[in-house]
Amino acid sequence: MNAYAKLGVLTIINAKGAATRLSGGIMRPEVTAAMLEASQHCVDIAELQAAASREIAKATGAEAGYVASGAAACLMLGAAACIAGLDPGRMARLPDTRGMKNEIIMIRSQRNFYDHAIRAAGATIVEVGLPDRYAGAGVRDAESWEIEDAITECTAAIFYVADAQSQPPLKTVTALAKRHKIPVIVDAAAQLPPQSNLKRFSAEGADLVAFSGGKVLGGPQASGILCGRKDLIMSAALQHLDLDIYEDMWSPPKSLIDKRKLKGTPQHGIGRSCKVGKEEIMGVLTALEFFVKESDAMRHERWLERLLPIAEGLSKLSHCQIEIEGEHDSTMLPLLVITLTKPNASAHKAIASLIKAKPSIHVDPSRRDQGKLVINPLCFEKASAASILKQLILAIS
Ligand SMILES: *Cc1c(COP(=O)(O)O)cnc(C)c1O
Repeated sequence: MNAYAKLGVLTIINAKGAATRLSGGIMRPEVTAAMLEASQHCVDIAELQAAASREIAKATGAEAGYVASGAAACLMLGAAACIAGLDPGRMARLPDTRGMKNEIIMIRSQRNFYDHAIRAAGATIVEVGLPDRYAGAGVRDAESWEIEDAITECTAAIFYVADAQSQPPLKTVTALAKRHKIPVIVDAAAQLPPQSNLKRFSAEGADLVAFSGGKVLGGPQASGILCGRKDLIMSAALQHLDLDIYEDMWSPPKSLIDKRKLKGTPQHGIGRSCKVGKEEIMGVLTALEFFVKESDAMRHERWLERLLPIAEGLSKLSHCQIEIEGEHDSTMLPLLVITLTKPNASAHKAIASLIKAKPSIHVDPSRRDQGKLVINPLCFEKASAASILKQLILAIS
């Protein structure tokens, strides 16, 4: 009996992708082994974060890096770093930002509920632009002059959510931000693959970039990496690390924290609630190492191997059409899209009955109104393909 069953919790098959509510994915054994090994020894956590910084810098091309409990946690730390800088007094007062630069500019069409993380640091979001192209009213979105217009002496940062359709392009935004000496924080939580995106946003001028550890990177669910400018990473570290230590005993690794830049030793900061353990840090670093080692093509192949048996099984049925999106593009996560073609067939019902199946199967429901089910290969193993196929045939018949 597995440990979940002892608690009366049934395991599910996650064909939806790395959703937190479905517990994310399945880690490769090397990552699990690294976490197990980490759990058997103690280390100085600041030293471990300094080592993580070097590894993350190497993988991302940024100056420095840090590990926190998720991409959202990294965004909160990033916002706190842009607001408080290296001032221990400001760090101590967050999320009360009275008297500080506390406005973070955001393109209105990029607003989303993960931006709680930005507001949690004490920032006020200043929205810019009207998303005409999404409203069906036009073709335009926020223009760079509108972003520039929103900059005041209270601006702490510009927050940019990276995605294929994000407008204006990041490079345009970082160029204007540089003119005003304002940092740009990029949410790249779900921007892998392609692997080149690990370096892309920093190369395009972002000052801080957050990636989720528990999505395509394949690390622990409760991990995320932040990479960027050294002084901002230092601030994030100071607001995250446990600082319950006598001042004269505090000698943090110089590469992560340059004490000479501080007027005093900060207290526990706002990031204390985003703590990560040595196990998560070692887990996400191991996952990052494997992610960099494996090419996009190999990853794509591995994902396709999970989808092809399902696609082949379904291709014999007359009442559905199948397509693998991104089948021939190795920079993409391929998706199996099943379109129900029988009159009155309901994708809503099929999805609900898959959830009720044993084992319970969760597919991506985002296209249910178009009569489509989407199978995302990220979070299930090849061995589950047969169960998924069998239950799909029952659910859509
Ligand atoms: C998933 C996601 C996050 C949160 O990532 P976690 O690692 O779960 O904290 C933030 N922003 C976007 C756009 C995401 O897709």
